[in-house]
Amino acid sequence: MLRRLSSRQLIVLYDESKEKMPLPQRAEWLNQRLRKQLRFAYSHAPAVKKKFDHAGVSPRAIRGIGDLERLPVTTKDDLVKLQQADPPFGGLLAVPLNSLGRIYVSPGPIYDAWGAERVTAAVRGFVRMGVPKPGDIVMVSTAYHMVPAGLFMTDALDVLGCTVVPAGIGQTELQVKILHDLKATAIFSFPSFTMTILKKAEEMGYDIKRDFNLKFTTGGGERHIQILRKVFEDKYGLLVGDGYATADIGAVAYDCGLGQGYHYDDQECIIEIVDPQTGKQVRPLEEGEIVVTLFSKVYPLVRFGTGDLASYTDEPCPCGRTAPRITRILGMIGEHVRVKGMFVHMKEVDEAFSKLPEVLKYQLVLKLDGHKDQITLNAETEPGVDRKSLSQAINQRCQEVFKLRMDTIEFLPRGTLPLEFKKVLDTRWT
Ligand SMILES: [Zn+2]
Repeated sequence: MLRRLSSRQLIVLYDESKEKMPLPQRAEWLNQRLRKQLRFAYSHAPAVKKKFDHAGVSPRAIRGIGDLERLPVTTKDDLVKLQQADPPFGGLLAVPLNSLGRIYVSPGPIYDAWGAERVTAAVRGFVRMGVPKPGDIVMVSTAYHMVPAGLFMTDALDVLGCTVVPAGIGQTELQVKILHDLKATAIFSFPSFTMTILKKAEEMGYDIKRDFNLKFTTGGGERHIQILRKVFEDKYGLLVGDGYATADIGAVAYDCGLGQGYHYDDQECIIEIVDPQTGKQVRPLEEGEIVVTLFSKVYPLVRFGTGDLASYTDEPCPCGRTAPRITRILGMIGEHVRVKGMFVHMKEVDEAFSKLPEVLKYQLVLKLDGHKDQITLNAETEPGVDRKSLSQAINQRCQEVFKLRMDTIEFLPRGTLPLEFKKVLDTRWT
């Protein structure tokens, strides 16, 4: 268990006046810190130095956020390659390996370096939101192995001074019992699993508002939080904390509670929305990739391309914060897709099916069923194939390689899929 912060330390952690700085002051504050951060990254992370040197740019030449365009974007694929060529962190780590509190592994595989600064950022987010509070009983219903989900949240809740129930995923009925018996005040999970737990509780005869002590839940990890958020708020009276985060960079943008998009977290990073082809910053409400430069003394990523497509607005927010907001996550670019909270690389999909020769051609169709992601596999096979045993083999293989099962498998005769087809057809945001 990590050391709890005192109430005085918690107050110091969060300074709202910084978030409501007038725009010119904000720009100067960010540019100043960016210059300092880039000098640090250049001298402490060999891969960052290489990136500057290859581009023929000196850290001194970057005076502000606009100048970042002179540097290339490091994509998620680049990160995989860097890490493979120079394991484990590809020359991006600025501290000795054994000084890291946690090393997570996310699909790719990608090693994720998480210093204490990430935990502090999450705690600051709790203080900003006002929930959970020290003394809250929080059921953490998300994965605890490899990925920075359950354990990371537990770390942050420890520091805040909450009581954590590390429930993990699955065993929904038991989770309902825990929630009830321990009078938990919050669930931390993917929104769709939280919804599954609440629905199960109702099936078991409970009234959430009457029989539970639940006040708060989290969003994130899934696109359809906007749909679920209303249900959590209106039907169950829950506060919903939401933000934008990835395993590589942590939480970098947050919802101020007004549902107006995700404010850039200026304490933690610089966010740019850029044209994925040119790397140039786009204008408000234009589509582009979310690119992040971290203010990190541990893992100082510079212009890291998340692969998420979004747009932003700099219109004033009623909350008074001046940081721009990511308005909407529009999908993913390139070779990745996020489904059921998991990040899946196309190469992993190919790898899974490379060992299933009975499947001649395949296509994953992603749909939204109410609040849940659904995966349908269209599989072309020869006639007479044993569908039952092949279905089992497919699910076993997919689970092994990218940790997901198919919800539906449609067997199609050879030649059904068109000549030109997408191996992953994402229909969730169209
Ligand atoms: Zn706001």
